[in-house]
Amino acid sequence: MTLLHDSPTAVHERLMAEHSAHNYHPLPVVIADGQGVWVTDVEGRRYLDFLAGYSALNFGHRHPVLTAAAHRQLDRVTLTSRAFGNDQLGPFCTELAALLGKERVLPMNTGAEAVESGLKVARKWGYDVKGVPADRARIVVAAEAFHGRTISVVSFSTDPEARGGFGPFTPGFDVVPYGDAAALRAAITPETVAVLLEPVQGEAGVIVPPPGYLAAVREICTASNVLYVSDEVQAGLGRTGHVLATRAAGVDADVYLLGKALGAGIVPVSAVVADSDVLGVLKPGQHGSTFGGNPLACAVGRAVVALLAEGSLLEHTRAMGEVLHEGLRELLGHGTTAVRGVGLWAGVDVDPELGTGREVCERLAALGVLAKDTHGPTVRLSPPLVITEPELHTALTALRHALRS
Ligand SMILES: *Cc1c(COP(=O)(O)O)cnc(C)c1O
Repeated sequence: MTLLHDSPTAVHERLMAEHSAHNYHPLPVVIADGQGVWVTDVEGRRYLDFLAGYSALNFGHRHPVLTAAAHRQLDRVTLTSRAFGNDQLGPFCTELAALLGKERVLPMNTGAEAVESGLKVARKWGYDVKGVPADRARIVVAAEAFHGRTISVVSFSTDPEARGGFGPFTPGFDVVPYGDAAALRAAITPETVAVLLEPVQGEAGVIVPPPGYLAAVREICTASNVLYVSDEVQAGLGRTGHVLATRAAGVDADVYLLGKALGAGIVPVSAVVADSDVLGVLKPGQHGSTFGGNPLACAVGRAVVALLAEGSLLEHTRAMGEVLHEGLRELLGHGTTAVRGVGLWAGVDVDPELGTGREVCERLAALGVLAKDTHGPTVRLSPPLVITEPELHTALTALRHALRS
């Protein structure tokens, strides 16, 4: 029932409350349009978007080069299925593989599907190449990780909310503390086929591992003939100021999982990227997706790859990241108990005396900056990479105020 005096926000909130599944707890902001770093809500209020679709909007809302690529493809052909070829798929796989210095791409749609596909490839590689006995493959993962919401992925989650009520769970996973190379080494058995890790744990609160950890992971995987699978769904494609956060640490994984920004916030596009000796284990009929590798997704993905390959946005991200982290360091002890991150990506732990992360995000929204709490006291900041220095200072000023009230 709509009352005459209801605000547009209240009308939309009631529709969502009554008819959408309540699997999220959004801030009371209903967005009507977006451009670059900015969004406008149904009341006409403008906000700086400091979540950027959890990094799906690394290039901002409606980046003109990316929407142009989508528009061009919309006017040609959008879906063929993989029963036939399409003239965007080959170029997309070739260009993305070249950007990452790998040989092959398996295109999927969502991040969780890329993770599921990566796990399937790792298990199959374990049986076909490594020679693990049938149905015995094990995969080592990290505590506090986030890899998506499917049954198999929540099967190895350590978040009680993500798991609770969703069993029975998929077996075959061993969980070790993140950042602890000795624990990882101890968890490897002759039946281990892969280690799956985020190079920076995003949902856990933008946790950057200790120096040398990723190199140790590489060394352990190589020594034990285990695939190193790096989930760069959130960390990859520019967020840290690099195409790959793993490579920025001087390390090369065997398998990269990409998603989020690969579709530029326009369409869901994800991918598993690896060399032929790994992705070659998949034969016709053994894996697939109706929408994976569709021409619209590939056209957008190609434009994203070209934008990243050009390089200036990565350079800009590194420079703006320094401004962000310098500003955040000044907040340490002033309403925060810890600040950390890399590139245009930060976790800010709110001093509990000042309220929860959620409360600070509500104050930030009232001040014109949209961010989202993760794990209680932590506010995650991840603006579009196209943000300018004055916009960054505007947001830092708002954060200073939000941490004062
Ligand atoms: C978001 C995310 C996923 C899941 O992606 P969806 O598109 O939401 O399925 C997987 N891994 C990481 C690291 C993520 O941040």
